[in-house]
Amino acid sequence: MASEVKALQHVRRCIREMQGYVPGKQPSGGGYIKLNTNENPYPPSPQVLDALRDALNADLRLYSDPLATPLRLTAAQLYGCDVEQVVAGNGSDDILTMIFRTFLDAGDRMATAAPSYSLYNVLSAMQDAACLEIPLGPNYTLPADLDAHGAKLLFIVNPNAPTGVLFAQDELRALLDRTDNMVVVDEAYADFAGETAVDLLAEYPHLIVTRTFSKSYGLAGMRLGLGFAHADIVAEMLKVKDAYNLDRLAIVAGCTALEDREWFNETTAKIIRTRTRLLRELEAMGLEVPPSHSNFVFPRIPNGRALEIYEKLEKRRILVRYFRTPPMVADSLRVSVGTDAEIDTFLQAMRELL
Ligand code: PMP
Repeated sequence: MASEVKALQHVRRCIREMQGYVPGKQPSGGGYIKLNTNENPYPPSPQVLDALRDALNADLRLYSDPLATPLRLTAAQLYGCDVEQVVAGNGSDDILTMIFRTFLDAGDRMATAAPSYSLYNVLSAMQDAACLEIPLGPNYTLPADLDAHGAKLLFIVNPNAPTGVLFAQDELRALLDRTDNMVVVDEAYADFAGETAVDLLAEYPHLIVTRTFSKSYGLAGMRLGLGFAHADIVAEMLKVKDAYNLDRLAIVAGCTALEDREWFNETTAKIIRTRTRLLRELEAMGLEVPPSHSNFVFPRIPNGRALEIYEKLEKRRILVRYFRTPPMVADSLRVSVGTDAEIDTFLQAMRELL
C-alpha cells in the first residue's frame, strides 16, 4: 500500500477521524427502478422547466442575489411568515450546515432522536462536536429524554426518517415547552404529512424548521431548501452561509415551483395514494409496516432476511435502502414511493422473494 502523503498531518484531527456522508446509490446506467433515495417519481412542474429555459440567458454572467430574495418572499407568503424569518439554501443540507456552523463549538453536544439522518453525525464531527443518538421510544415514538443529555441543539426529523412515522404536534410542543435549547425540526418529508411546525414559530423563538424541494417538488437535482426561524436567528445564520449559495437558476426554479400549487397538489396526492396501496399490499404479505406520513415506507423483513432481500432486489435492478445500524432498523428496508408501475414491479418481486 502506498504510504500516506506527509501533508495529511495538517488536516484537522476531527476530519481525519470522521467518516464522510455515504449517499444512497446513484447508478450511472439506466434500467433501474430507483426506490432508494426518496426522490419524486414525477418530474418537476412544467412551469419550472419553462422558467428555467427563460432564465438561460446572458444574465448568467452576473452573480445571483446573495439572499435569494424573490424565493424568500414567495416562501414567506406561502407559509404566512415574514421574509426575515426565511433563509434559502442549496438544498436543505446547506441549511443544516448553516445551523451547525452557527450553534456548535468544538466540544459541544447535539442530540438527535435516532435513527435519523446520518448527515447530522458528519456535520457534528466537522465542528468537533458530539452527536448523541437518543433512541426512539417504543413504536418509534419521540424519546422522552431527548433534552436530558446536556445538548444545546436538538434535532428531530418529522415525519421521521427512515421510519416514516409522524410525531404529533403536541409532542413537539411539550419538548419546546420543556427546553430553552435550540430545537430543529427537519421537515424534508412534511409535505407528505400535511403538517408543519412553521405554524409554531410565533410561539417558540428557539425553533428552526427546515424544508426541501428535493422530495415533494421533484427538484432533488436543482438543490433547493428553506429554513424558517425567528428573524434574529435567521440573521445569525445568514452570516455563515456561502455568499451566493443559490445560483440564478435555482432561485427561478424555487419561486416557480412554490407558485404552481396545482402541480404540487396533484403529484403529492398521487404519491400519497400509491403509498397507501404499497403499505396495504406489504401488510397483506404479512409484513409489519409502521404508518408512513412520508414518501417512503419501512417494512420489517422477518427472519433476519433484510440484507438478503435487499441484495436480491438489487440483482433484479430494484434499488431500495438498507441500514446496517442501529440494530433497531437493521431488520427493515426503506422503500421510496415510486410510480404505480414501479411499485407493482417491486411488489411482485417481494412476493417471489419472500
Ligand atoms: N433531511 C433529511 C431527513 C433527508 O432525508 C434529506 C435527504 N437526504 C435531507 C434533509 C436533505 O435533502 P436536500 O439536501 O436534498 O434538500
